[in-house]
Amino acid sequence: MHGEVVRRFTKHKQRYTSQRRLIVRVLAESDRPLMILQMLKRSSSTKKVLAQSSLYRNLVVLENVGVVQRVFSTDDVARYELNEDILGHHHHLVCSKCGDIRDVRIPESLEANLDKTLLTIAKRSGFRLDQHRLDLIGRCGKCA
Ligand SMILES: [Zn+2]
Ligand SMILES: [Zn+2]
Repeated sequence: MHGEVVRRFTKHKQRYTSQRRLIVRVLAESDRPLMILQMLKRSSSTKKVLAQSSLYRNLVVLENVGVVQRVFSTDDVARYELNEDILGHHHHLVCSKCGDIRDVRIPESLEANLDKTLLTIAKRSGFRLDQHRLDLIGRCGKCA
């Protein structure tokens, strides 16, 4: 994973600074997309601390080089995760009450069935399917 991140930085002639490395590490260790505040909190347990002042700017760079993507929830708070082609294909459990998102993986056989069905639907509309996104909306353990 790390090599791929470095490659993207090189390709875009951007520096992979220690702050940017730290953001990638915090996101890589998370089981869910994170809000800015959560990123700051999680980095405070490491030796290096994320600087809030440059966090937004660094996130923009990370988005531009294709390492980080924004995730949309049921609230208006921005959340970030590593790009799906780095993190691996997964889905999200989205809480409609508090907006929290958790990553969830579907068994491969089910993914294959899902792709088959979606491909049929897409074809019917003359649409070329590249990938799919599927969110599960409901209430998290805390809000249920
Ligand atoms: Zn919730
Ligand atoms: Zn899927």
